[in-house]
Amino acid sequence: MTGQIHSIETFGTVDGPGVRFVVFFEGCPMRCLYCHNPDTWVPGAGETHTASALIARMLRNRSFYSTGGITATGGEPLMQLDFLTELFELAKANGINTCLDTSGATFHDDPQYLARIDRLLAVTDLVMLDIKHMDEESHRALTGHGNKHILAFAKYLREKKVKMRVRHVIVPGYTDGREELAALGRFLKDFDNLEKIEALPYHTLGKAKYENLGIPYPLGDTPQLTAKDAEAALAVIKENM
Ligand code: SF4
Repeated sequence: MTGQIHSIETFGTVDGPGVRFVVFFEGCPMRCLYCHNPDTWVPGAGETHTASALIARMLRNRSFYSTGGITATGGEPLMQLDFLTELFELAKANGINTCLDTSGATFHDDPQYLARIDRLLAVTDLVMLDIKHMDEESHRALTGHGNKHILAFAKYLREKKVKMRVRHVIVPGYTDGREELAALGRFLKDFDNLEKIEALPYHTLGKAKYENLGIPYPLGDTPQLTAKDAEAALAVIKENM
């Protein structure tokens, strides 16, 4: 089996614990207004890799990753679920820590799909789940999709006792409202599998990619968020947990 891979970062320090070999998968069903990787949305521009080629490349510098491991991100890695599972199975067979960074948007409760997800989760050490907005309609306005499947995936991870970190991008005027932040805190209150919650400040580093792709930048002149404001947002989430 082969995967459609946008790119690889061999020294990732922000996508999971320790230093990580980060694989950016191609394809994403969402269109988040603040996405800084629009170049991963449509498969075809990247490269085709086998799982064994990716793991072999990682193992060449194995000592880098002694406190880290491999992270699948994107794009949306779950769009290539079977390839992702093969990659993580091979990683675990080589004693490598595995982390999935996902929006969870493709999750659904069809029994056949759940069997495939279970196989993936059996070889996944950590899921970093992006919860974009707690309100269904605001989520749809922000990403083009509702949030039901994403919240259901969070609950499924809890049921399966898979370690989870939640990431929430704080965008001025979109996701920084007190009620929105409080709702996220209330939702996460009972998650005994939650290892960490991160409030990530919105930034505009992806703007140039939109220009290169000839796509108008959706958030116009929305200002970047300061680290201090992101900390204040995180405090509101935690107050409600
Ligand atoms: S889910 Fe991630 S990759 Fe997909 S549009 Fe949103 S931010 Fe971009």
